[in-house]
Amino acid sequence: MKPRVRIAPSPTGDPHVGTAYMALFNLIFARHYGGEFILRIEDTDTKRSTQPAIEAIINGLSWLGLNQDDEIVFQSKNIERHKQVAYELLEKGAAYKCYCTPSELDEMRKQAELEGKNFKYPKIWRDKKADESQANLPFAIRIKAPVSGEIIVNDLIRGEVRYPADDLDDMVILRADGTPTYMLAVVVDDHDMGVTNIIRGDDHLTNTFRQKIIFDSMCWKMPVTAHVPLIHGADGAKLSKRH
Ligand code: GLU
Repeated sequence: MKPRVRIAPSPTGDPHVGTAYMALFNLIFARHYGGEFILRIEDTDTKRSTQPAIEAIINGLSWLGLNQDDEIVFQSKNIERHKQVAYELLEKGAAYKCYCTPSELDEMRKQAELEGKNFKYPKIWRDKKADESQANLPFAIRIKAPVSGEIIVNDLIRGEVRYPADDLDDMVILRADGTPTYMLAVVVDDHDMGVTNIIRGDDHLTNTFRQKIIFDSMCWKMPVTAHVPLIHGADGAKLSKRH
């Protein structure tokens, strides 16, 4: 099968050299195997995404000769589809409605902090049904993460990587305001776009375990991943604008 790869920058600021770096790996991989390289603009964060940032990404990549092979995909156009998948997961019993309010969650977060623990949603609504008085209240949709075992990913660069399932939260896939989270949108788009390989920075490795839960719950094949080490400055720190 010919590979289809993508880069998926979020247009929330000036283009980062990391975007060009990842585009280079993806493009070379696609060219080497006679596949396709796609640009997907992840513009669902309407507060932080800007038109100048979108243009800067497109013009920057074109100036570098890192041209995509197909039409640019704008993630914001797929929101209805993301929602549909969230409801499909709900119907399958792979996700559930969580009626916890932001203040209740804040309270739990503070409590965990006081106890010096990392906050993990205590799965309150996982096996609970809303009664009549609650049924009309706003709810988020959370995925049911496996409670035991390990999530295993065979990465082209890292080899076999494992993560204890118990350490992963029942993450929100659809917020109470009806907007999809990054984690859901990425999985749905990668699947729908026929992405075969996800080549991205290794700062995304923990997201990969989370995203695998969604792929598995939908019985979708997970693209093969390759997590590339990030570029670091001379001081050893992850490259940032101050460099
Ligand atoms: N939009 C994400 C970012 O800019 C990338 C998502 C991905 O490559 O899967 O970090």
